[in-house]
Amino acid sequence: MADSTDDLPEVPLPKPEPKEIDEKLALQLRHQAEDAVLRGKPNGEERCDNCLFYMNPDDKISYCWHPKLRILVGGEWWCQWWEKTED
Ligand code: SF4
Repeated sequence: MADSTDDLPEVPLPKPEPKEIDEKLALQLRHQAEDAVLRGKPNGEERCDNCLFYMNPDDKISYCWHPKLRILVGGEWWCQWWEKTED
């Protein structure tokens, strides 16, 4: 049995492109990252997943609840607001 879509002309799907909201958010997040001196790698022993503000230390990506950030960050990232976890 033929598929009912066999007779339809092939219409190329539009190439996915970022929308205005994506560009706005990207710029906003870039400014936040610059303010925090956010880096995608650890600073010696200091890294997001051993920082006080990293929500779930067992996850490779987690929410950073530092009041100036409030974004998702990677466990191996680091920023200038790193703080030792409370024991
Ligand atoms: S405050 Fe900085 S170092 Fe700490 S989790 Fe957030 S981004 Fe990472």
